[in-house]
Amino acid sequence: MRGAEMNELRLFREDGLRIDGRRVDELRPVKMEVGVLDKSDGSAYIEMGKTKIFAAVFGPKEAHPRHLSQPHRAILNCRYHMATFSVEERKHPGMTRREIELSKVIKESLESLVFLNEYPRSAIDVYIEVVQADAGTRTAGLTAASLALADAGIQMNDLCCGVAVGKVGGRIVLDPSEEEDKHGEADMPIAIAPRQNSIVLLQLNGRMTREEMRLGIEMARKGIEVLYSVQIAALTKRVRSSHQGGSGRY
Ligand code: UDP
Repeated sequence: MRGAEMNELRLFREDGLRIDGRRVDELRPVKMEVGVLDKSDGSAYIEMGKTKIFAAVFGPKEAHPRHLSQPHRAILNCRYHMATFSVEERKHPGMTRREIELSKVIKESLESLVFLNEYPRSAIDVYIEVVQADAGTRTAGLTAASLALADAGIQMNDLCCGVAVGKVGGRIVLDPSEEEDKHGEADMPIAIAPRQNSIVLLQLNGRMTREEMRLGIEMARKGIEVLYSVQIAALTKRVRSSHQGGSGRY
């Protein structure tokens, strides 16, 4: 039996639904909250299924060390990190190569959204802390980071919403879980600036045909429409609660 056929048996139920009961184009349950931490300038929390992530933003503030500051724009620093207890096998507490790479790609996506020129000689620090990982952490982290930047009042041309699509048992599925990701043939994280309708992150692990990629991007776009409405609802709730004098924080 070929790998894809075996995975189809393992990862799809007899009724054609995925092992967690979702349709191929269905997101996991999503929750977002803005302004969840007291000690940062902006913050957000996201849950996508069992994936749980906090994002915190500090700044704009004076850049340190000074020689790194840019006279005409802000520098944006980003640290994506997984807590040691966020994964099945305890993770080394330091930054792994994977985390360094993800910090870089997330930083580049965020740089395309923030009006850096509005903040000369400044630094904006973005921390993404994965407290429970079940796949899709880079895209969920990016979604939360854009909310935290908005919460910090940093000027941006758009928010950013991300989700992965996978190829599992030969089928294209939206928002794969870790189980699907592990046994799947390919994984394609996508993030979109929804109002501009531009792709700010697209990666591909494994192989997909051109038609599968087209279908995957189409599926991701539909998922991102849902995620964007959840983002807007979370920001609206935050604005309402701060007008009413509540902090909305944990
Ligand atoms: N993962 C893990 N340990 C690690 C790295 C990843 O258990 O050191 C799991 C985790 O659930 C993660 C998933 O593998 O979400 C998929 O990781 P990937 O590198 O594809 O990034 P992600 O899908 O989280 O953006």
